[in-house]
Amino acid sequence: MLGKLFPFLSNDIGIDLGTANILVYVRDKGVVLSEPSVVAVKTSNKKVIAVGAEAKRMLGRTPGGITAVRPMKDGVIADFEVTESMLRYFIQRVSHNTKLLPPRVVVAVPSGITEVESRAVQESVIHAGARNALLISEPVASAIGVGLPIDEPTANMIVDIGGGTTETAIISLNGVVYSKSIRIGGDEMDLGIAEYMKRAYNLMIGERTAEEIKIKIGSAYPLEQELTMEVKGRDSIAGLPKTLHINSGEIREALSDNFKAIVDAVRTALERCPPELSSDLVDRGIVMAGGGSLIRGIDRLLSDATGLPVFVAEDPLTAVARGTGAALENIDFWIHQSEK
Ligand code: ADP
Ligand code: MG
Repeated sequence: MLGKLFPFLSNDIGIDLGTANILVYVRDKGVVLSEPSVVAVKTSNKKVIAVGAEAKRMLGRTPGGITAVRPMKDGVIADFEVTESMLRYFIQRVSHNTKLLPPRVVVAVPSGITEVESRAVQESVIHAGARNALLISEPVASAIGVGLPIDEPTANMIVDIGGGTTETAIISLNGVVYSKSIRIGGDEMDLGIAEYMKRAYNLMIGERTAEEIKIKIGSAYPLEQELTMEVKGRDSIAGLPKTLHINSGEIREALSDNFKAIVDAVRTALERCPPELSSDLVDRGIVMAGGGSLIRGIDRLLSDATGLPVFVAEDPLTAVARGTGAALENIDFWIHQSEK
């Protein structure tokens, strides 16, 4: 009511609650915040010590008594209490009149989330200070954010490689025709790199170093000029710090199973696609979003495997958040849509 009378008081927000990053979009302002989904808590009582980038710097480096946790795992909430603290922290940071007029919040959630998990996310957002929480499916948000004409009777295919999951979806007429979420994403690649370093060189590295290797020299398709990099870690036999040089070819090989799983998921989606929509895709192709779409050559790999054109979205890391922002502008429509 207050919101209808004084729309300028209302600071509606959209949230991309990702496993790797949480982004917040404020109506009329755009994406105002993007931080890693990490929280550092006191181990004894779960009291929050740091949130976001500050907490991520502590991952793997905390003294006894402090734990840096990633409350979202595999695209769902693994630790509700900590997720709620994180949401509260970010919602309060971006909104000023939460007491007078709590914000309406649109949250993008993975398409594979269960009824129970959805309700839990909704409750967390309300507890965290929202007036109400509307959930929209992540691939839909991503497609809106990328600017696909999802309200038309034509197929739009989106592949979003996030931290915990890869979501493949075909969308037409504002609805999800097909969607599948596999629990392979950037995190799994980081693990794969860490395991490879141990197996090939007896070098122990942390998850942050593994991620750095992936971003600096990771590739899904042979590069015209292969890359090299210096890596520091601990020798698992001598127990001492060690430095060595690795190249992009060996990392690509170490990640090949992950890429294969992503290619298979996309192929399955195409096999399940109704024929009329299938023929739309021949021209319209596949659009990629999420941080994992920045791996060198992943578009080429998918294009080779499917014979379809593949495009990586502009600014793929913010696509979902921008989509929740666009949904805020049409919130009544999306409330109606979610009740169908
Ligand atoms: P989520 O939606 O799960 O929060 P994001 O879409 O924010 O995930 O993507 C995060 C993932 O993308 C992380 O695993 C991160 O390491 C990876 N990533 C970010 N930038 C790059 C890059 N340039 N190359 C490869 N991977 C990247
Ligand atoms: Mg995401």
